[in-house]
Parts: sequence; C-alpha cells; structure tokens
Amino acid sequence: MRVQRSLWLALGAVVWLACGGGGAWDVAALAAQNPALGREAARRLGEATPYLLPLHGQLTLFLCRWRLTDPLLVSLPSDASPRERALLDRALRAWQQALPELRFEQVLAGAPAQLEIRFDADDPSRTATTAAECGVAVGAQGQPAQLDAGLVKAHVALRRAALDWRDDVQLLSDEELLGSALHELGHALGYQGHARHGLTVMLRSVDDVRRAGRRLLAGAPFADMALAALYSVPSGSVVGRLQLGAARTGELDRLAALAQRGRFAGPYVRVGDESARIVWRGPDGAAFGFFLPRVREVLREPERLELLPTAGTLALLRSEAPH
Ligand SMILES: [Zn+2]
Repeated sequence: MRVQRSLWLALGAVVWLACGGGGAWDVAALAAQNPALGREAARRLGEATPYLLPLHGQLTLFLCRWRLTDPLLVSLPSDASPRERALLDRALRAWQQALPELRFEQVLAGAPAQLEIRFDADDPSRTATTAAECGVAVGAQGQPAQLDAGLVKAHVALRRAALDWRDDVQLLSDEELLGSALHELGHALGYQGHARHGLTVMLRSVDDVRRAGRRLLAGAPFADMALAALYSVPSGSVVGRLQLGAARTGELDRLAALAQRGRFAGPYVRVGDESARIVWRGPDGAAFGFFLPRVREVLREPERLELLPTAGTLALLRSEAPH
C-alpha cells in the first residue's frame, strides 16, 4: 500500500473532498493562538488533512512543514529535458516567491536532497504522487499545544503524460506540467489533502491546477493562501486530539517503547488522501510501524481507526514480548 494522492485521476472533472477537516479539528483555536492567521487563511488550513499520531490512547492531529533553519535541498530529475527543467525551475521559483521564508537550494541530480523530484515510470494511467515525511520527537506524555515536528524528506513523482477522456495518451502541455509541479510541490511542502476554495493551487480540480500553470506562464505573480497559512504557524502545531482508549493504540505503544529502548529513529509520519503511515527506523535503516487506512473516515469517526502492521513489525514485537 502506498501513501499517494491523485491529481490526474479525474482528468477534467471537478471532484471535491467528501469531508476535508471540519468537525474533527479546531481551526478556531489555532487562529486564536496565531493572531497573524486571518480567517480565510485559517479556513484553508482547516481544509487540509492533518498529520496524525496515534499514541497512548489518543489520536493527535497536527500540522507539519519544513523548518526554516536551513536551506531546503532540492534535486530535479536526472532525465529532465531542457523544457522540463525550465518548467520545474519555474515552479520552484514560484514557491520561493510565495514563501520567501523558505530557501530552496538546488543540488545535482543524484546528490543527497531532502526534496527529490523525479519523473516516474511512463505509465499515463497512473497519477502524480507525493510523499512528505514528518519526523516527530515523541516526548513525555502530556498535552502540549505543539509537537517537536518537521518535514524531513519528500519525494515528488511527476507524470509526463495522462489519459484523456477517451483513454488516449496525451503528453502534458507546458501549463499542465507546470500546474502539476506546483500542486505536487505544495504537498511536498506540507499541505496534505486539498483546499475547497481560495487563491491556492492546492484545489483538487485538475482544471484549477492547469489554470495556475497557465497564469504563471503568462507572467502573473504566484501566491498561495493555503501554504502561506501553513508557514505562518509553527510546525508541529496541534490542531486536535481524539480519544481512542488505551487498547486501540496498544501495539503501537509497545513499538514506541521498544523503539525508544533500541534508539530507533522516528516516528516518521506520512499522510495521503487514503491512508497514513507511521514508522520508526532501526539502526540498520529497516522501517517498522503501521498503516492507518481510510484517514478521512477516521477523522470523522475515530472509532474506525485501524492500525495495520507493516512487514516485519509483528515479528519484531513478538520477539520482544515477555515470555
Ligand atoms: Zn493533490
């Protein structure tokens, strides 16, 4: 199971998120703590899918973005044509304009990068995907208003082609590729899920995304309300806590304790449209953790939370169980 989000899936169609934030989490409290956050901007944040941490009988919902202490190292695809490279450069420059507090630094393809952009296998029936991983320092149990959390790694896999309404393969035009890159970079910068309205490229509609690419090509300045809002509040801001009961997070709590004893790195959380994943990494880099399927349903009805162990996790827990 991969955590991924679809952009070109419903080509040309307008599809909105069924729920998008709402009841599960409290944007009003976030706005009260951050007076600089305007009402509209708070609303855009309210439409994002928050990052989730199920631990000690609670599901903590929080926001995660890149920290601003160091430049963000970005690599472009090694196989990009000059045209594709120019469009991706343009998308990065646009985000630099929209988020001046972030500093992008391009590294050579293949060099270590925190944000890696590549073209995925040429299968036009698949969709552009982004995974943005948030590293969380799990401290003592309690109810802090802010977690020690920040993005640590993001991958953007772009498509060069998509299927049109007749299922014919169409290479993406300049405005489509630029729009797609802008949108996926928005996910890579920490905005998960989609906004319903507003001046943002994080809308779900492919038409809106294409239009953003067209505007930028025409020389319009680029601004994004949703991401500006995300970067105006601290990374790790807690936006909700849902009570689950201790039994619901038992296995994950055991893994967290084991990870602490074994000095595993993590946890690292990813959130997609469909599912989320939380893992720790052992000394040899192997990941152990759980998938959380049906994230949006869980946000509405926390009792539907299910934790599905990733490969090797149960064996690790069994090997450490008291005999
Ligand atoms: Zn998206």
